[in-house]
Amino acid sequence: MLYNSTQNNEKVVSSAQAIAQGISEDGGLFVPQSFPKFSLADIESMLSATYQDRAKAVFKCYLTDFTDDEIADCVDKAYTKEKFESENPAPMTSVDYNGKELNILELWHGPTCAFKDMALQILPHLLTKSLKKTADGIKAVILVATSGDTGKAALEGFKDVENTQIIVFYPENGVSAMQKHQMNTQAGDNVYVCAIKGNFDDAQTGVKKIFTEPTNSEVLKNNKMMFSSANSINWGRLLPQIVYYVSAYCDMVNSGKVELGEKINIVVPTGNFGNILAAYYACEMGIPVNKFICASNSNNVLTDFINTGVYDKNRDFYTTISPSMDILVSSNLERLLYKMSDNNDELVRDLMNKLKTDGVYEVPAQIKERITSCFFGGFCDEDSTKTTIKNLFDSKKYLCDTHTAVAVSVYNDYVEKTGDKTPAVIASTASPYKFSKSVLEALSNETLPESEFDMVDMLYSISDTKVPTPIAELKGLIARFDNVTDKDEMKQTVFNALGIK
Ligand SMILES: *Cc1c(COP(=O)(O)O)cnc(C)c1O
Repeated sequence: MLYNSTQNNEKVVSSAQAIAQGISEDGGLFVPQSFPKFSLADIESMLSATYQDRAKAVFKCYLTDFTDDEIADCVDKAYTKEKFESENPAPMTSVDYNGKELNILELWHGPTCAFKDMALQILPHLLTKSLKKTADGIKAVILVATSGDTGKAALEGFKDVENTQIIVFYPENGVSAMQKHQMNTQAGDNVYVCAIKGNFDDAQTGVKKIFTEPTNSEVLKNNKMMFSSANSINWGRLLPQIVYYVSAYCDMVNSGKVELGEKINIVVPTGNFGNILAAYYACEMGIPVNKFICASNSNNVLTDFINTGVYDKNRDFYTTISPSMDILVSSNLERLLYKMSDNNDELVRDLMNKLKTDGVYEVPAQIKERITSCFFGGFCDEDSTKTTIKNLFDSKKYLCDTHTAVAVSVYNDYVEKTGDKTPAVIASTASPYKFSKSVLEALSNETLPESEFDMVDMLYSISDTKVPTPIAELKGLIARFDNVTDKDEMKQTVFNALGIK
C-alpha cells in the first residue's frame, strides 16, 4: 500500500513516511492509493472478534510496511482497559428518542474524555515506529493546532514519548474552561502549551504555514529534528478512526439491529471533517452505509457546501457551546474532494488555491452530485443543541455533551425531512463533563457555581452519572502553562520552545 499527496500524484510514499511526515511538502494531504475491500465474509469473521483484533485487521490493510508484531504492539499498548475503562474502548448504547432509535457510539471513554483519544492513544506508537523506519535518530516535533480536544489528547498521548516534542496552540477564547485547564496542567518533560490571540482557523493556518515553509524544515534538520503533525491531517490520525466504524457495524449486526450486509446511516458531529471522512473510508472498505449525515453547529460552512457545492469561508465565525466544531476551514474535506474527483490532484490543487486566495470555491457539478448521493448536511443552533440535551435527558435519562447533541438534533431533522428509517449510528464525541457549564445551562435554570469543578459536582448530583476519573483527577492540579502569543508570532514561539535561535 502506497500513499499519494492530494495535491501531487507524483508524490508517492510508504505509510511510515506518510505518518512521520504528517503533511506533504506541496501542502497536500497523504491518502492511500486505493481502498482495500472487506467482503461480507471478512466482516462476518470479525463479528466475534474483540475491538483490538478488529483494529489489527484494519491496520494490516494499510500499514503494509509494518510487521504483524509491530501492529499488534501498537494496538495492544493503546486500547487497554486501564486507559479506556473497559475491554471495549468504543461501546454502543441504544436509546429511543422521538420515535427514533439512536445507536450512540460512545467514543469518549479514553484518558481525555473525547473521541480524539481513539486515535491519539495509538498515534505516538505508530509515529515512533514510523520514525525508526524512515528517519532513525531524528526527533519528531509535533505541532498541534487545537479547538480544545485534540490538544489535550495529543499531549496525553505524546507526553514523555522518547524522541518526540509536542507544542500545542489553542485559541485563547475559543475553548472551554475545562479544556484550558486540562491542557495547561499537562505533565511531561516534552510538552509545551500556548494560547494564541485568534480563533482556531488562525491557529491551524499558522501551524500549516510553519510546516510548509521550506526554511523552517531546513533549520530543524540542522538540529536533528523534523516537524510532524498530530492533527487529523496526519494519516495516522484517520486510520484508527476507520476502525470504530467497522467495529460499530459488527456490533450492530451482533445486536440484531441489522442483518449482515444491510446498510446503516452514520451521523457525525463535524468540524475538521476527519471523523466523518473516516466513516466514509470505512464504507469504501466495504462497510454497508446508506447516508453519512454531516452535522454542524452555527458555523455551517459544510452544510452549505453539501447543499450547494460552494465552499465559502467568507462568513461570520461563531464561538458556540460546541467549540470543537467551531471551524470554517475543514481541512479533511480536501481528501474527500480528491476521492470524489477520482484522484484529480490538479483539481484539488486548484480548489485549495482558490480557498487560500479568495476564501471560496465551487466544485464541478458531477462532484457535487457524487457528494450529495451519499452525504446529507444539516446544522443546529445553540437553542436546539440545548433543547436536545434537555429532552434526551428528561425523557431517557441519557446525558450527552453539546457536540453529540448537535448530531442528535440534525439526525432528528433528517428523519423528519426524509422519512429514512435506516438504522443509524450516532458518533458521540465527548463526555458531557467536559462541557459541564453548557450542559448544566441546558438542564437547569438554577444559578451556576463559579468554579468549573463545582459545576462538575452539580452535574453529577442532577444527572446521577459517573464523573470520568480523568476529570475528577484534574481538580486541584496547578497550571504549568500560561503562555499567550500573537498569531503572527507562532513560528518564533516554536523555535523558542525548541531552544533554536
Ligand atoms: C474534534 C471534535 C469534533 C469534530 O471532529 P472532526 O474530526 O474535526 O470533524 C466533534 N466533537 C468533539 C467533541 C471533538 O473533540
